[in-house]
Amino acid sequence: MRKLLTFLFLLLSCFTFAQHNNHHVHQRAIEFPDIPSYHTMICDFHIHTVFSDGSVWPNIRIQEALRDSVDAVSMTEHLEYQPHRADIAHPDRNRSYEVAEQAARPYDLIVVNGAEITRSLPPGHSNAIFIKDANKLMIEDSVEVFREANRQGAFTFWNHPNWIAQQRDGIAKLTPMHRYLIKEGLLHGIEVINDVTYSGEALQIALDHDLTIMATSDIHGLVDWQYNIPEGGHRPVTLVFAKEKTADGIKEGLMNRRTVGWFNNTLVGREDVLLPLIDACLTVVKTQYQGISAVLDLTIENNSDVEFILANQSDYSFHANTDIVIIHPNTTTTLQVKTLEQVKDLSLKFKVLNAVSAPKTHPDIVIPIQIFDE
Ligand SMILES: [Zn+2]
Ligand SMILES: [Zn+2]
Repeated sequence: MRKLLTFLFLLLSCFTFAQHNNHHVHQRAIEFPDIPSYHTMICDFHIHTVFSDGSVWPNIRIQEALRDSVDAVSMTEHLEYQPHRADIAHPDRNRSYEVAEQAARPYDLIVVNGAEITRSLPPGHSNAIFIKDANKLMIEDSVEVFREANRQGAFTFWNHPNWIAQQRDGIAKLTPMHRYLIKEGLLHGIEVINDVTYSGEALQIALDHDLTIMATSDIHGLVDWQYNIPEGGHRPVTLVFAKEKTADGIKEGLMNRRTVGWFNNTLVGREDVLLPLIDACLTVVKTQYQGISAVLDLTIENNSDVEFILANQSDYSFHANTDIVIIHPNTTTTLQVKTLEQVKDLSLKFKVLNAVSAPKTHPDIVIPIQIFDE
């Protein structure tokens, strides 16, 4: 009997351990809810491997993406910069895509063919994704290469326009060539976030010229090391709001500028998709007055990875917070709202300090609240 109990205890311990482990893996996954009418697709469309100047084989990029619960990736090797060429013969510029696509086949992970057109300014570096054949992009003329990418049905974007190797002041500025590419419909997006940098100037360019807001890792080493993922960090990704969970659905979302960048616990996007996203992340799940008092316990569930930093904009004040409120990710947070008298409904207004809809502009959200009957 004692032996049986010991066995059962051990079995139970293993089970608990396994569950704990699962929970740990789960926390790494990047998680965002869908918004009305659209699927939220988590995408990283700027990635390097040994096929240009990265440090790993493409299958490692697929394993990283699976761990991060990314929905779609593209290996975007430099077409014109091949530092490993002496070691890795690379006559076919589609190989990185092919190896990655093969590695991703057993999984629910979309891989689209892409390449980084690598030029000095102008136009600097640009990615062309959803291309058919990277070899056909080996074209010297910087405008012609965009024309060929577009003939292949590509979505194109300007990479790291704030890169200090090409812009010493780190300020993104449109050149006449960029204006021409935009006017001709050959350039569709711009990186507002690249790796560990954010460019408010690039965001303004996106808003002024109807370009898609992009956020990418541009990873060369390992994402775990670059973004301290074991310590709770995350890689930058573009959230694309797609009608369908397919490559075509994502491309349609990109072409129609339905994106939000997720970077360093900050959301960057146009209000028309940013506000529905924040709204989908936050749900009031419980309301209860503290006895006969006019202090309302308000429990908000946050269904996302964002640790929201909110600044109170309404006349109500809080019993246990200043005007700054933190809503923890993937769990519930209870606020104590002083409503002056017991009411049946109210609404709270906050400025979302870690969301950006234009340079130095943080959107306001309104949370309508019905007091549940006890
Ligand atoms: Zn680049
Ligand atoms: Zn790059």
